[in-house]
Amino acid sequence: MSPNEAACDIFECTRCGDCCKGYGGTVVDEADIGAIAAYLNMTAEKFQERYCVLSGSRSVLVQQSSGYCAFWDQLCTIHPVKPRMCRRWPYIESVVKEVNNWRIMAGMCPGIRTNVSDEHIIACVKKKLHGKR
Ligand code: SF4
Ligand code: SF4
Repeated sequence: MSPNEAACDIFECTRCGDCCKGYGGTVVDEADIGAIAAYLNMTAEKFQERYCVLSGSRSVLVQQSSGYCAFWDQLCTIHPVKPRMCRRWPYIESVVKEVNNWRIMAGMCPGIRTNVSDEHIIACVKKKLHGKR
């Protein structure tokens, strides 16, 4: 069976919350900011002022003093509108370009399976990326 036909069972989130802590911040683009601000019933400007900081030229969500994202409270409190970066994880382009990144990412995300072939990982990541915003 080809990977496209097989179940892409290479990842299952354990909800440990590790990816919501540290790692250089969660990048938010204009669409993310608009969606989260609307969800929180505030303007995009107010949201940025209160919940974003600049990292270079990009906006990232502020963190609590514990290092967790401002929106982490045992779970993601903005789950329906969480940033694209969070929704896509761990299905990202850099894995398609370099499959070893999958195994490196597994070191920080217990939901990532590594006892699968490179070919299967790449096929599954491509499949998950396709059609996603
Ligand atoms: S680190 Fe991985 S397993 Fe843990 S919450 Fe994040 S995505 Fe889920
Ligand atoms: S927005 Fe939600 S999923 Fe993304 S880092 Fe913050 S708490 Fe985690």
